Amino acid sequence: MTCSYCGGLMVWVGPLTALTHTQCQSCGGVNCQVVEPEEGYPETRNSKGIQCPKCGHVHDDSYEYFDGIDGDAEIECSNCEAKLSVSKTVSITYSAHLKVNQ
Ligand SMILES: [Zn+2]
Ligand SMILES: [Zn+2]
Repeated sequence: MTCSYCGGLMVWVGPLTALTHTQCQSCGGVNCQVVEPEEGYPETRNSKGIQCPKCGHVHDDSYEYFDGIDGDAEIECSNCEAKLSVSKTVSITYSAHLKVNQ
């Protein structure tokens, strides 16, 4: 846990059987740890297109979202209107093998 005031280390305070609160070891703040973002939907990876992690909808026209954008983009799922942060990974693999009968 990290202190939201000073970035120090937060530790649990109280008897082991009944930990009552957290306290920052640096500034002494109580229960001021950075709140972790809520466990969301898992990331999806789909070679066919952007797949909404919420409703599972696959956007066949995903390339349009990246028109003029290199890397990350933000879109809205056209099916459930969830806001998605999306990114495109392009990988190119060159391969070669020796021809027989040289
Ligand atoms: Zn602190
Ligand atoms: Zn969706």
